[in-house]
Amino acid sequence: MDTQQITVTSPLLPNLEDFNEMLKEIWASKWITNNGQFHKQLEKALSEYLKVPYLSLFTNGTLPLITALQALRITGEVITTPYSFVATTHSLWWNGIKPVFVDIEESTCGIDPEKIEAAITPKTTAIMPVHCYGKPCNTKRIQEIADKYGLKVIYDAAHAFGVDVNGESILNAGDMSTLSFHATKVYNTLEGGALVVHDEVTKKRIDYLKNFGFAGETVVVAPGINSKVDEVRAAYGLLNLKQVDAAISARQKVAQIYRQELRDVPGVRFFEDMAGVRHNYSYFPIFINAEKFGMSRDELYFKMKSQKVLGRRYFYPLISDFSTYRGLPSAAPENLPVAKRIANEVICLPMHHELSENDLERILNCIKK
Ligand SMILES: *Cc1c(COP(=O)(O)O)cnc(C)c1O
Repeated sequence: MDTQQITVTSPLLPNLEDFNEMLKEIWASKWITNNGQFHKQLEKALSEYLKVPYLSLFTNGTLPLITALQALRITGEVITTPYSFVATTHSLWWNGIKPVFVDIEESTCGIDPEKIEAAITPKTTAIMPVHCYGKPCNTKRIQEIADKYGLKVIYDAAHAFGVDVNGESILNAGDMSTLSFHATKVYNTLEGGALVVHDEVTKKRIDYLKNFGFAGETVVVAPGINSKVDEVRAAYGLLNLKQVDAAISARQKVAQIYRQELRDVPGVRFFEDMAGVRHNYSYFPIFINAEKFGMSRDELYFKMKSQKVLGRRYFYPLISDFSTYRGLPSAAPENLPVAKRIANEVICLPMHHELSENDLERILNCIKK
């Protein structure tokens, strides 16, 4: 028998019979989209689970980024990180905003707050950080800088589902936070996402903007997009929410095994849990020091691949290296030394709720030789 491929992730799927029961309800009601009953239930259930006051569902994790910028009327320049999924910066492009890349800190892979001020110009209107791998950014320091210069803060929290700091949701930081419920994320609704806001008036405005700007049957208040979530995905999301805690616990066990087994391997660095943080174990990045490890990151990556162990080089290349952005002054490699180095060191190991002991042994054997 061929050895099975071990993928970097595996989607959390609801029980099919339970899902079918909900589909029957949808078929009977004939209400399939436009704020149906499951949509309302999911918004309520998610805001309770995530401990946030208001949240609007979206059809993916990119449109809430685009909509947040539109809702806050962000223009000019926005300070952001090159070390993320490309959608973070694309959301700026879609709003005609110039991205300004600032380097990251090695300890979190998030934007380095101490390098933000030097990038602020009279055109800067906001900061868009990413809680990379679900590791909380230094939100306190970022807010101090934002307040000093009158900037908005929009967090791309696509990786930070369920992450708390001292019992409080990380999603309450800044002016708004966005989530992705894509199949590869800790919690998924097939495709999906959400925008977290702090007050009811803003939530209402967001709901208009994700429905073409309609504020009533005959009133359109803005050039909104269509990002309405249908009942099928909302039902799926309700079922997955019931099992996400168990999935996070299973991931935590995987992280514990990785740490235990890799602790004494020279040239392999990884993150520990942060004090006071409830992590979601969405990713398990390791960082390879080629000299100490005796092999480069890419050599290890392809060795793993040849043994059907599929890690992913999140985030390589940097967003600032893609053709759309590499001409920007802030995309210059000298401006981003830490991000450059980390992008060449990182491999995210397979991480999901279904990895078996045998899988883990195969993965670890690739690394430990
Ligand atoms: C997944 C992801 C997104 C985009 O989410 P989609 O649901 O795929 O549109 C945005 N930012 C980051 C950091 C992501 O990882």
